[in-house]
Amino acid sequence: METIRQYVKSLLLLEMLKGLRLTFVYMTKRKFTVQYPEQKTPKSPRFRGLHALRRYPNGEERCIACKLCEAVCPALAITIDSEKRADGSRRTTRYDIDLFKCIFCGFCEESCPVDSIVETRVHEYHFEKRGENIMTKDKLLALGDSLESEIAEDRLADSLYR
Ligand code: SF4
Ligand code: SF4
Repeated sequence: METIRQYVKSLLLLEMLKGLRLTFVYMTKRKFTVQYPEQKTPKSPRFRGLHALRRYPNGEERCIACKLCEAVCPALAITIDSEKRADGSRRTTRYDIDLFKCIFCGFCEESCPVDSIVETRVHEYHFEKRGENIMTKDKLLALGDSLESEIAEDRLADSLYR
C-alpha cells in the first residue's frame, strides 16, 4: 500500500510542487540577501577588525610602552620593544602584531590605559607576500591616522554601552 502511495506521489510530482509553492511564497517576501561587496551591512562600533595605533591631536603617539597589551594577549601575538626618550618618557621602538596568531579577542584594546591600540572596523584585507601578516608600528600608526575620526566616534559610542 505504501509503495503504491509513493508511486502516485512521484507520478503527480507532489514533492516538487510543494517545493515550488515555497519558492512562490518567498518571492513576494522582503529580501534579506545583500549584494556584497557593492552593498554592505551596518557594523557595530564594537566591531573587532584590523588593529590601529592612535595619536593625540598634537601628533604625539598615545602608546606609552607599558606593555600591558603584550602581557594580556592570549595568543602571544604582540611584540613590543621600547626605550626611554631624552625627555624621560618611554616610547616603543617596535610594535608588531602577528595577524596569523591574533584571535581578535579585543583584550589588547581593553587593557590599554591610554586608548592607544584599538581594533577598527576594517575586515577586508589580504596578504600576498610572506611577512605581510605582521602589522608593524608604522602600518598600525598609518591606519590609525587614516581612520582617526571613525575610531574616535566608535570609542565614544562604545563608552555609552558601558
Ligand atoms: S585582539 Fe587579542 S589576540 Fe589579537 S593582538 Fe589583541 S589581545 Fe592579542
Ligand atoms: S598600546 Fe596601550 S597597553 Fe599596549 S604598550 Fe601601548 S600604552 Fe601599553
